[in-house]
Amino acid sequence: MSRIDLHTHTTFSDGSCSPTELVELASHKGLDILAITDHDTTDGLSEALLACKDLPLELIPGIELSAQYHNREMHILGYFINLTNSQFQDRLDALRSTRIERLHQILDRLHALGMDISLEDIEQTSKIGTIGRPHIAQVLIAKGYVKSMKDAFEQLLGSRGKAYIPRVVPEAHEIIDWITDAGGIPVLAHPYWEGYNKEESTTVCQTLVEQGLQGLEVFYGTFSARHISFNLGLAKQFDLLMTGGSDFHGALKPDIALGKGRGSLHVPSKVVERLRVAAGY
Ligand SMILES: [Zn+2]
Ligand SMILES: [Zn+2]
Repeated sequence: MSRIDLHTHTTFSDGSCSPTELVELASHKGLDILAITDHDTTDGLSEALLACKDLPLELIPGIELSAQYHNREMHILGYFINLTNSQFQDRLDALRSTRIERLHQILDRLHALGMDISLEDIEQTSKIGTIGRPHIAQVLIAKGYVKSMKDAFEQLLGSRGKAYIPRVVPEAHEIIDWITDAGGIPVLAHPYWEGYNKEESTTVCQTLVEQGLQGLEVFYGTFSARHISFNLGLAKQFDLLMTGGSDFHGALKPDIALGKGRGSLHVPSKVVERLRVAAGY
């Protein structure tokens, strides 16, 4: 039986392990197949591929992109993307620029609240890759402005926080096209369907499928059996691929274990076989 984790983050976005450390940890934990799905970037994958070279571990290239759907944010995973697709990489560059603009706006808000935190401080916590709010939170904790990541989000950075700036992200159908245009498989990440009832969830899923969505992350690090069975039903109803992963972030989400999530994650091997066939590998 293969051990599989198809949703993980490295220091190239908001994880605490470098790609090499993550690959070594995966191998140490006996994983057979690992996908790295950093936010807005595929730049960590070449290091990870190199680190896998002499290990019995298969690396699947992935990414996680934020999208909006009727003013709600959702995350879409892309697997088996052609990493050298220049149009895709240009689109990612543009996304990262909007993240930096937002970062400046958040810093302005924090300054107005009397907090002494600079772009350089944040760049030191995220030397490479995509800068996100967790990096700002780390600096706020280090400087004693808040006690924990939870406080940082509740008081300042989260949607009800004093320094919150909403992020403008592309529409779901655009993100689905970006991934498909680069030869990848678009999969809806962690479908909790928060704020939607059963019928609404089904309608949203149907619309996304009509827009080109090909899979659902049925198995997820923090899903209950009820969530899994609901998403399994949707995957069957719309003939979707299934994927699964922990959403491992290392020390930044210490309750989530690689390959295990909160303990009960199990991703069946057939999931990867079907994903591979769909991607033409
Ligand atoms: Zn996500
Ligand atoms: Zn994630």
